[in-house]
Amino acid sequence: MPTEQLINELQSFGVRLVDPRAGHESRRGGAGPSDHKAMTIDGMTVMVPVHTAPAFESPYVVERPDAAGRSSIRRDGMVLGDVSFPVRPRFYDRSTADGIPYWKIAVLHGRDVLATTVLQTCIRYQSRTKTCQFCAIGQSLAAGRTIERKTPAQLAEVAAAAVELDGVKHMVMTTGTPPGRDRGAAILAESAAAVKAEVDLPIQGQCEPPDQDIWFARMRDAGVDALGMHLEVITPELRERIMPGKAQVPVTRYLAAFAAAVPVFGRGQVSSYILAGLGDAKETILATCEQLIALGVYPFVVPFVPISGTPLESHPAPSPAFMHEVLGALARMLQAGGLKATDIKAGCGKCGACSALSAYEREAMP
Ligand code: SF4
Repeated sequence: MPTEQLINELQSFGVRLVDPRAGHESRRGGAGPSDHKAMTIDGMTVMVPVHTAPAFESPYVVERPDAAGRSSIRRDGMVLGDVSFPVRPRFYDRSTADGIPYWKIAVLHGRDVLATTVLQTCIRYQSRTKTCQFCAIGQSLAAGRTIERKTPAQLAEVAAAAVELDGVKHMVMTTGTPPGRDRGAAILAESAAAVKAEVDLPIQGQCEPPDQDIWFARMRDAGVDALGMHLEVITPELRERIMPGKAQVPVTRYLAAFAAAVPVFGRGQVSSYILAGLGDAKETILATCEQLIALGVYPFVVPFVPISGTPLESHPAPSPAFMHEVLGALARMLQAGGLKATDIKAGCGKCGACSALSAYEREAMP
């Protein structure tokens, strides 16, 4: 099976691990790829669901890895490919002077990305009527696996250690949306400035579109190299239903914000996460991607993963066939538009582990 299709299969169905301790700790809850483990297949590190309900019944099984972290993936007893698990990062063993383990401040995503949720609370997460139904930002906080507010000094300390000890190559800073009209741009700017003062590490900031476009230049000047503003869902009725709080910022504001941000960060350095499988039609996703690419925005389309404990925990993941159609067409559109994951300075599009998109891009290359 071609690698990109195997990744689609694994991200849709998840895998059963013969040894649940394989690889380093996986996170449950939180923002970003929760309930997943990082695995490397054919040179590409991808996040694969292991703790979701579908994963427990997945036809894909990963054998117990050997001492070097190498194993194989099987289906119906047939070996489909080799897989290896990134080793536990060394910075996880350190703590701040006041006793906070570094892994509660930032974690390793994919193979070489340091990821943090600067503010682990969100105005959109206060009530079930407003919360984004796929989001688990409060779960890891409630379980004590992270801290609510990572200070700029803590982030700088952990980033420096992750570069020195584990060779991380870029950093993702996301945030819950705080009260206030900058929608998180201010805390991203102060956090990026602190990290850049300590270590030379490319940073992607991720927030909702701020109320004023001047925040784009402020974030860039503070050290944010790339920006993510995530549409997640496109169709207005679906946005209202799935993320009623966030839907108050309409798609038109996102498009205007993209148009203002691209000249600041550069073509291809602004991106948007789009969750496939929540009801948007293939045509809707691809038409929006076309619009985004024309603006110079990299559309990072990822399969929706139902996270345990969220209102959408029983919602099915998209089928591998749906992802194949969307990502195959999108890779060709990206190539025609001259945008590449590998050209992004930092962030999810560059990491690519939550989607098979970069594998499709690799295939679409002449
Ligand atoms: S694509 Fe983004 S969210 Fe997914 S593992 Fe990479 S950095 Fe984390």
